[in-house]
Amino acid sequence: MQITSWYTHNFEDRLTGRYITIKHIMPILDSYRTNFNVSVAGFSEMGVEIPLVTFGNGTKKVLIWSQMHGNESTTTKALFDFFKYIIKNKQQTVQLLSQYSFYVLPILNPDGAALYTRENANNIDLNRDARDVSQNESTVLKSIFESLQPDLCLNMHDQRSIFGISGPKPATLSFLAPAADALKTITPAREIAMGLIVKMKNYLQANHHSQIGRYDDTFNHNCVGDSFSSSGAPTILFEAGHYHKDYNREQSRSFVFYSLIALFDLDTGAPISSLDYKEYFAIPENQKIYKDLVLYNVKVLGEQTLQTISFQYKEILIDEKIEFELYFDNMRANNDVFGHQCFDLKGGGILVNSHQNITIDKKITTIFDITQNLMLI
Ligand SMILES: [Zn+2]
Repeated sequence: MQITSWYTHNFEDRLTGRYITIKHIMPILDSYRTNFNVSVAGFSEMGVEIPLVTFGNGTKKVLIWSQMHGNESTTTKALFDFFKYIIKNKQQTVQLLSQYSFYVLPILNPDGAALYTRENANNIDLNRDARDVSQNESTVLKSIFESLQPDLCLNMHDQRSIFGISGPKPATLSFLAPAADALKTITPAREIAMGLIVKMKNYLQANHHSQIGRYDDTFNHNCVGDSFSSSGAPTILFEAGHYHKDYNREQSRSFVFYSLIALFDLDTGAPISSLDYKEYFAIPENQKIYKDLVLYNVKVLGEQTLQTISFQYKEILIDEKIEFELYFDNMRANNDVFGHQCFDLKGGGILVNSHQNITIDKKITTIFDITQNLMLI
C-alpha cells in the first residue's frame, strides 16, 4: 500500500523513543516555518513557550493537543509524522488544506515533558483542571478553544501497558468519544465523534491489524475532553498503547499516524467501508488485564498453593533517555492476569536478584529459574 510504504521510509526519524520535549521539537518546527505558521500560544507555569502550529485555509476548524500529560509522547511523534506527510505530499493534501484549518499544540505541557511527568511543574494533572482552569497551560488550551470554537477536537494521550481487550490482546490504540453529561447522552457532537472513531477503527483493522479498544466513558467534568464535549464540540480521545515488544512505542505511533490518515480521508486507495456511529459500541472495551511480566505456577516459600507473580516496568528518566526498570507488582493464587512477557515455572522456584524473597521496592535486575537452571531476566 502506498501510504504504508511512504510511512516506512519517511516517518519523522528525528523524534524517536519516549522522551520528547520542546528542545526536540523546536528545531523541526523551525524548519517548517515556510510551510506552517508556528507561533507561541502562551507560556507554561515555568515560563516555557507553548508552540502552536497552524496550517490549512478551510472553514472546518480542527484543534489538536498532545502531551497535556508530559510523559505521553507517542501521539506527538505521530503528529510530526503527519506534519511531514502534509509537507511532502502537496498534491495529496491540497484538498484537505482547502477544507480544514488545523490548530495544533504538539506539547501542551512542556514542563511535564522535560521532567517526564504526567503532571505539570506544579504537580497538577491538567486533564483534571478543566473546571478550575488553575494552570497557565489550561488557560492556553481553554482560550484557544473558546476563541476558535472548533468543529473537531483531538485530545491525544498515551495509555499504560496494563490495558488490553478481549482475546486477550494488548490495547495498542484506544479511542473515546467523551461523555457530555453524567447520563452519557449521545449528543449530536458525540455522534459525530463516534462515527469518526468507527471510520478510523475500520481503516486500521482492514489495513494495519492493530488492536483497537474503547475507553471508559464515565463522565468527569474536570476532564478536558468531557468538558469540550459538553460544550457541543465533537471530541475524540486518542490513547496510544502497548504493542508487542514496543516499549518505545514506535509501532503504536504509526497506528496513530494511520488513524489521522483515515480520519482526514488521505488514503484514496482504501475507501472506508461504513460510518455507522453505532458500531462504536461494538469496539471492545479497555480492561486492566495486562502486566509487563508474569510468572505462572511459582513455588514460593511459605505458600501452600502455586503463585502467579507479576512485575511492572517503571519509566525512569536517566541522561535524557527513558530506562525501563522492573519492579514487583503483585502475587496471587489465581492466574487471571496476562503478561506482555510470560514464563510458566511449572511448580519450580525462583531467585530474584539472587534471593528467594522478593524485596518489594527494589529494582529487579535478575530472575533465575532454579529448576531449569535458567536466567529468565
Ligand atoms: Zn494522558
